[in-house]
Amino acid sequence: MEAQPELPSTEVDTEMEVEDDQIPPSNSKDPPPILRLDQSVVNRIAAGEVIQRPVSAVKELVENSLDAGSTSISVVVKDGGLKLIQVSDDGHGIRKEDMSILCERHTTSKLSKFEDLQSIKSMGFRGEALASMTYVGHVTVTTITKGQLHGYRATYRDGVMEDEPKACAAVKGTQIMIENLFYNMAARRKTLQNSADDYPKIVDLISRFAIHHTDVSFSCRKHGAARADVHSVATPSRLDAIRSVYGVSVARNLVKIDASDNDPSNSVFEMDGFISNANYIAKKITMVLFINDRLVDCGALKRAIERGIDDVLLVSLSDACGKVSLLNQEIIIEKIQSVVELKLRSSNESRIFQEQTMDPSSSSPLATSQDSQKDPSKSGIKSQKTPVHKMIRTDSLDPAGRLHAYLQIKPSNNPERSSCLTSVRSSIRQRRNPKETADLTSIQELINEFDSTCHSGLLDTIRHCTYIGMADDVFALLQHNTNLYLANVINLSKELMYQQVLTRFAHFNAIQLSEPAPLSELLMLALKEEDVAAEDNENDDLKEKIADMNTSLLKQKAEMLEEYFSIYIDSNGNLSRLPVILDQYTPDMDHVPEFVLCLGNDIDWEDEKNCFQSISAALANFYAMHTPLLPNPSGDGSQFYKKGKSSSSIDGQGNSSKTTGNDTTEDEYENDLLSEAENAWAQREWSIQHVLFPSLRLFFKPPNAMATNGTFVQVASLEKLYRIFERC
Ligand code: ADP
Ligand code: MG
Repeated sequence: MEAQPELPSTEVDTEMEVEDDQIPPSNSKDPPPILRLDQSVVNRIAAGEVIQRPVSAVKELVENSLDAGSTSISVVVKDGGLKLIQVSDDGHGIRKEDMSILCERHTTSKLSKFEDLQSIKSMGFRGEALASMTYVGHVTVTTITKGQLHGYRATYRDGVMEDEPKACAAVKGTQIMIENLFYNMAARRKTLQNSADDYPKIVDLISRFAIHHTDVSFSCRKHGAARADVHSVATPSRLDAIRSVYGVSVARNLVKIDASDNDPSNSVFEMDGFISNANYIAKKITMVLFINDRLVDCGALKRAIERGIDDVLLVSLSDACGKVSLLNQEIIIEKIQSVVELKLRSSNESRIFQEQTMDPSSSSPLATSQDSQKDPSKSGIKSQKTPVHKMIRTDSLDPAGRLHAYLQIKPSNNPERSSCLTSVRSSIRQRRNPKETADLTSIQELINEFDSTCHSGLLDTIRHCTYIGMADDVFALLQHNTNLYLANVINLSKELMYQQVLTRFAHFNAIQLSEPAPLSELLMLALKEEDVAAEDNENDDLKEKIADMNTSLLKQKAEMLEEYFSIYIDSNGNLSRLPVILDQYTPDMDHVPEFVLCLGNDIDWEDEKNCFQSISAALANFYAMHTPLLPNPSGDGSQFYKKGKSSSSIDGQGNSSKTTGNDTTEDEYENDLLSEAENAWAQREWSIQHVLFPSLRLFFKPPNAMATNGTFVQVASLEKLYRIFERC
């Protein structure tokens, strides 16, 4: 959701368009003259930052209405907000004498001296929002205060009121109208017009406000539409508010959660909210989070909750936090995460109970409910994150941010029903053979191994470091306190994947391949690859034999691979599903052949513990964030993509760009390759920043060895660097 920046920054073009003709012609050798920007341009640039898009204007206006003590707020939108945004409230209104400075920058009624900052309760206090709107749109304010017989209306442009306020009829409160937003920012307007319109975002925003501010009634509709798309009525019950906004089926499946801490050395917070139980199946997680009454996004908390419960809809996580500081964010997240897990686990047990009473083959519902309650404790598997019914389920995960063409996440049809069936099936199997899932001490032992060899210093560094960027293809640069570190992302990701496979053991969601891939072909590919290295291309017959043997071996092991690792091999010997090891991450499919060969050749199938250990290691190696096969186009690899390059380009000359003969098609081919490479590298870097490091922070237990084997190297201490600079 927060993957891509919402809007490419277009300010520069916009302002250039306006100012182009003012820049005097210059001799290209001389430095260009430095000009003072016109104040109106400065204001417009600043305004464009406060009001990024229509939905941000709506958010500011609604917050103002809430600050004005309104009990009813209605929003009307035309053309995604570009033509018209109108917010009407029944709040305390604005005095006539304040109307003239209302839209100047830094005018606010909410703060008058610096000390007020500490006690401020309102949503806004910088006095920038309304002013900003007048620089990028046409603003009309109609308002009436208590006890007046009529109201006043005024229009504003570029921070100033255009005329004296005119008397007009008005109902209680304030109505603010923004017309022609970004009329003077051509590039931004164009970008917004080309992308999907903001109306759905506005509906989403108002829905979120509606379930948090339950004492206010909200409505939101398109201009001219008879029906509102959000319509909430003030109610003392949050659940009622959720029902009226998100519907009965969402509200019916919610569980209440509360978490708090009151240990000043640890964290001080209080939260309360609702989370949907396993009966609710959603395509993606919706999280509505208010911290100290402000609507915010918290990626880290979302990921922590998403872990292992991929199709839960978290509806309202509103809080009554005292002091939420970013410093103890991790502690707070951990607390909330464990409360959520506990709640869901208990609510899921009751779900299994209900289903089994529907199953005609089950003997006694009571007995089964006991079974399912006993299991988690008996199993000895430390973190049973996902309920039993999800063991063999395929699910569609939000495909946003994935690039590989080989992979298309197919939404499973009718997920509700199929998951019911598998749930019933798997619990039946469990009863028939309780040993299967209950007695896996081998997994517990493997988990203990990395738990107990954890390096506490590194753990602290990883938990609290800041990711700065990639220093080269393999090492990331991190800062912790005043120290800088280089960390090998391939090693780190491999180890993290290994630990996650064991932690999520038997509870994976699945990635569905867009087309089942025949094992025999994958194995042949991998065997040939090995031979290219060994320069031996003769023995195709032998290879086919090896491929056949391995295929039938893996077909025999299919049931176990599916049940414990979500690696799905069908009866025709096709690979069609792989496990989700980290949410939001799919492995590089170029490594599938190698992985399958590794499953065929390197697994010890005899000894249970070795078997699980070696399969986990094979998965970890496959899912690790290796460098893409195509060389990095922004580094040394750029030579590789020079046009006219043939097989000889490896000679490193790369200056054959003047070749003219068979040009165009080859040109395009190179461009395709180049953009494929750019995509692969950008995708990897995105995953490193947004998936790998946040997950490392939350879940990783760094093994002792990592402190000394070059995975983690301290490169500098800023204190020493400062001292050096001081001397210069
Ligand atoms: P801020 O909210 O940071 O104070 P704004 O530019 O959003 O700055 O608003 C400026 C001022 O205009 C507010 O401080 C408030 O006094 C007044 N105001 C804005 N909207 C409303 C409204 N809907 N009802 C009453 N007063 C309003
Ligand atoms: Mg405001």
